[in-house]
Amino acid sequence: MNTPFPSPSTSLTRRRFLYRASLGTAALAGAPYILRAQGGAQPRKLGVALVGLGNYSKGQLGPALKVTEHCRLAGVVTGSPEKGAQWAKDYGFSEKAVYGYDTMVQMAHNKDIDIVYVVTPNGLHMRDVIAAAKAGKHVICEKPLGNTVAECDAMLAACKAAKVKFSVGYRLHFDPYHRELMRRAKDPAFGPFMQMTGDRGFSLRAGAWRADKALAGGGPMMDLGVYLIQGACMAYGGTTLGGGALDAAPSFVTGKERPKTKPQQFADGVEETIEWTMEFKNGAKADFVTSYVGGKDTFRVEGPKSWWEFKQKAFTYRGTIVETNAGPVSYEPFVNQQALQMDDFAQCVREGRESRVPGEMGRRDNVIIAAIFEAAKTGKKVAVKV
Ligand code: NAD
Repeated sequence: MNTPFPSPSTSLTRRRFLYRASLGTAALAGAPYILRAQGGAQPRKLGVALVGLGNYSKGQLGPALKVTEHCRLAGVVTGSPEKGAQWAKDYGFSEKAVYGYDTMVQMAHNKDIDIVYVVTPNGLHMRDVIAAAKAGKHVICEKPLGNTVAECDAMLAACKAAKVKFSVGYRLHFDPYHRELMRRAKDPAFGPFMQMTGDRGFSLRAGAWRADKALAGGGPMMDLGVYLIQGACMAYGGTTLGGGALDAAPSFVTGKERPKTKPQQFADGVEETIEWTMEFKNGAKADFVTSYVGGKDTFRVEGPKSWWEFKQKAFTYRGTIVETNAGPVSYEPFVNQQALQMDDFAQCVREGRESRVPGEMGRRDNVIIAAIFEAAKTGKKVAVKV
């Protein structure tokens, strides 16, 4: 279904209303990010255990698990038993479901836990994903999937051997803005988008693990650049594997690290700021920059038929502002991407189907990142072989 733009002559509020109306009840109800319980008896909510109770777990995933329809928080893995006990109290699960990183294997005996969500620093993802798979649990792992492609391969192999489902925490696939942009890319009324530009950054506090090469795998490219890569692959039209995500990968990349302004903070062999270009098979080009100095969060795509620009919060959870050639687009009120992402995975587990953000998609982006790092190091254009 083509989505007509609202009339540019109307007021912003009216335009927003019209835009939502123009999507239509059918479009919204049919949109994959709007999940509803099926009729009949409610099945048991699947149990999720969060591994790592840092900022993302505390600020986003825990609260999201209070509003999910198909899963609930049923356990945690933490280095602090006291913190774990507090989570058990706050979320109403047994203290017996508080595990340490080295006792995760015991989860195998806990039938209340179906899914393990790994939210530790990047360099620990492989350790924790493999432990979860060995305990026989389905796994979601935060981005970037690994520090290296080899780590991704080890995680994929462990999940395959354990016959458990494996997904990467790519919430953009549950963000209505990015989903609509992905839809438009494939709609001849809007797409394709041939030029893309964007940036993503924040000022990293001194001493954070995100500047530690072993724990982070790299600098802002690992943490933030991965959003620009996903955004571009989605705006190129990629959905899932099997004709989607792999096709959506760029064919070539070039890259350049910018000189460090804080060499001491980024002394551990990680970049402070890096810029890169991705070239796609159809000639589309994406120019991006990511940095741990200064706040940035924009993304713009343009083609012969239309353009779309995230003016702010392109890749964050709230406060997104989008302008297009035909006026603003808004999905107010707030859509909880994390709740939709976890509910979707719970439904995948229940129904035995693959996630739209499978582990392979996380691996794809690690391949792209490795190619960009190589291009930045050698100064050459590098072919991406997903
Ligand atoms: P954080 O530093 O706030 O939390 C990390 C957690 O891991 C803490 O509870 C810490 O105690 C624990 N941990 C275990 N071993 C550790 C070690 N050796 N060193 C440091 N911490 C250790 O980090 P965060 O912001 O919650 O990020 C965690 C993961 O989630 C990262 O992979 C990050 O990329 C990802 N993340 C994703 C999003 C998103 O929107 N999808 C947002 C933020 C973070």
